[in-house]
Amino acid sequence: MAVPKRKTSPSRRGMRRSHEALRSEAHAECATCGELKRPHHVCPHCGHYDGREVAEAGGALKGTVRV
Ligand SMILES: [Zn+2]
Repeated sequence: MAVPKRKTSPSRRGMRRSHEALRSEAHAECATCGELKRPHHVCPHCGHYDGREVAEAGGALKGTVRV
């Protein structure tokens, strides 16, 4: 089995992890009710998409955006 020759230094470890930061979820205001929702998703608050109701209001809270 291949084994590392040296212990990874804190500096090297930090360089490797420099790309691991989490970014905030994409969000946009619902045009109908003004609540925050994910872009291109049915609004979980009012059930509207593209100006018309396509789902029951207040149904699934799956797409709820927390900022
Ligand atoms: Zn809405």
